[in-house]
Amino acid sequence: MNDFLQTPIEYLKGVGPQRAEILRKELRIVTFEDLLFYFPFRYINRSQYHTIAELPYLDSYAQIKGRIIQINDKPLGKQNRLNVKFQDHTGIIELVWFQGAKWIRPLLKVGTEYQIFGKAKIFGTSWNIPHPEIIELEKVKNETGLQPIYSSSEKLGMKGFTSKGIEKITKVLIEQLKNRIPEIIPDSILNQFRIISREEAFIQIHCPNNEDNANAARLRLKFEELFFLQLEMLMRKQITMSKSKGHKFMEVGNYFTEFYANYLPFELTSAQKRVLKEIRKDFLTGHHMNRLLQGDVGSGKTLVALLTMLFGIGNNFQAALMAPTEILAKQHYITIKDFLKEMDIDVQLLTGSIKKKDRKIIFDKLESGKTNILIGTHALLEDTVQFKNLGIVIIDEQHRFGVAQRAKMWKKNTIPPHVLVMTATPIPRTLAMTFYGDLDVSIIDELPPGRKPISTLHKFEASRLEVFGFIKREIALGRQIYIVYPLIQESESMDYNNLMDGYEAITRAFPLPNYHVSIVHGKMKAEDKEFEMQRFIKGETQIMVATTVIEVGVNVPNASVMIIESAERFGLSQLHQLRGRVGRGAEKSYCVLMTGIKLSKESKKRMATMVRTNDGFEIAEVDLELRGPGDLMGTQQSGELDLKIADLSKDGQLVSQAREIARQLLTEDPLLELPQNHFIREQLRKIMRAKPNWSQIS
Ligand code: ADP
Ligand code: MG
Repeated sequence: MNDFLQTPIEYLKGVGPQRAEILRKELRIVTFEDLLFYFPFRYINRSQYHTIAELPYLDSYAQIKGRIIQINDKPLGKQNRLNVKFQDHTGIIELVWFQGAKWIRPLLKVGTEYQIFGKAKIFGTSWNIPHPEIIELEKVKNETGLQPIYSSSEKLGMKGFTSKGIEKITKVLIEQLKNRIPEIIPDSILNQFRIISREEAFIQIHCPNNEDNANAARLRLKFEELFFLQLEMLMRKQITMSKSKGHKFMEVGNYFTEFYANYLPFELTSAQKRVLKEIRKDFLTGHHMNRLLQGDVGSGKTLVALLTMLFGIGNNFQAALMAPTEILAKQHYITIKDFLKEMDIDVQLLTGSIKKKDRKIIFDKLESGKTNILIGTHALLEDTVQFKNLGIVIIDEQHRFGVAQRAKMWKKNTIPPHVLVMTATPIPRTLAMTFYGDLDVSIIDELPPGRKPISTLHKFEASRLEVFGFIKREIALGRQIYIVYPLIQESESMDYNNLMDGYEAITRAFPLPNYHVSIVHGKMKAEDKEFEMQRFIKGETQIMVATTVIEVGVNVPNASVMIIESAERFGLSQLHQLRGRVGRGAEKSYCVLMTGIKLSKESKKRMATMVRTNDGFEIAEVDLELRGPGDLMGTQQSGELDLKIADLSKDGQLVSQAREIARQLLTEDPLLELPQNHFIREQLRKIMRAKPNWSQIS
């Protein structure tokens, strides 16, 4: 449609085939359009001068003017280094060149006035500016406006694509832009948000006249990005709804009824009931269910999963439950086997470590339909795993699985099975909308009754004796204690040493015969781990020293204290997960975060957040703010998104607005057939075509 933007970048004046290759390799810039979308990450006001005295406080590139008072270019060892003393009315700073002194030196004269542009750095005890731009003040063109700064690399810089170099070719492109960028968003939406035109936005993002224009450009481009993302999600949902037939589960089924009447160990919370109703409704529509179940740690998702599977098998289908780790899969298997022990339901466990011979048996039972419920890890995804009639798939802890894996499970039956995705950690609203925007969402916002909120305390090393005293009092009351140490892959051996030192200190402080201490870590054999776990579960030991292996899947209701050592090294969601291991019984529970005295600003915020709240959703919001979506969702999934300008951790409100507008648009014009939506349709088609999985839009 818009051929101009698809022109290969080598045809841009000043680029050529060789430099085009660099742009392609380093920045994936292939066309004019790609270059337009390579946005500056900030701007510098070139019409403003700073003073030398201000430089140490700026922490950014800045412009100053003054005179050279001394030039020192004596060769220093092998390096030909150039040092220049530069003065303005507020002070003196040194300019330094480590390279290229040969070329710079002849341009410099003592006493002449220059304009300097660079970033001051501290070197030892004094400040200098390495490799500044320097121009004689007389020769400075009266530059106004903001200079865009593009991210570059050494490799790019060597080929002339410093920030300045990128700015140069971008300007060439911008000059040709006039009347070549059609608007793709209808006027009604632009007016509603007072958003500038697409063409104007591209011009102003690269060459803004002032800060307001730069902001207007960013807003427009962010909105566009998020709007199409949400449209894409909603369109995808629409397509799944209309195209994919789903199994109808007309009956509640005997299994559900029997279990509910006889074996349900406790009254369901009203949130659990509500969610089950939502799920049941999906089963009656004849469409394929695609639902996300969010609920905090301990909110009782497993039971919902089980009851959902019972709907399925009661309608003569098979069910599968997939977990991200072997420990968790096993834990689910044990829990569910136990729930169902009085009933005639065949449950199997399939993980990577199941032997070939046993696999064969499981596969046969699956294909013949003897097995009702299959629980396992991603081993379930393999093509060799074939069901007789798979009707419902439950995926626990989704954010370690990607969209592609979900799609793989769909293919396990000619009519795709229903899918329920459960997250262990709540996901902030904007992320849920974006990463799971094609799913319906159910939320368990209520914990089972009788849970007392966990008190969380933050303590420094100096209070260790006090903490040990507290542990002793709790043990005297008959409670059990977890003490968790970090174990990070990069510093594994050091972490093991810390764990072992800690274990030793604890056995000294809590000696036999009064105290019994268990230890569990990843280097132990599986059966030793199991043995130690069992001792703790049975109450034979009062203290469990462990690494994060206990993060998920452990349930010891009598444990009422969670001590987290070096808590500053854990992320918020991990801390929240760990804390969720206590507070499962009737007793008042505690979580103690032990840290060093010196904490970064972020660590302080994490500790304060944990102390302030038990609400997983609130914690998730802070986590997003601190870490950004990439870390939160896993880079793989964030990579799928590849946002160029919007920032999900900061643009939450815009995400919601974009989604609402996209929703309205599709309600009025589901297939985008109205003439005013023509460009939207074209753009969306282009975006969706680039993603092989969902090219169904026609
Ligand atoms: P999560 O949502 O973290 O997966 P679980 O499903 O493991 O939570 O449930 C946590 C604990 O709460 C389990 O011991 C479970 O048996 C118990 N539980 C679940 N639902 C209820 C309920 N309605 N009433 C009382 N306890 C419940
Ligand atoms: Mg769970």
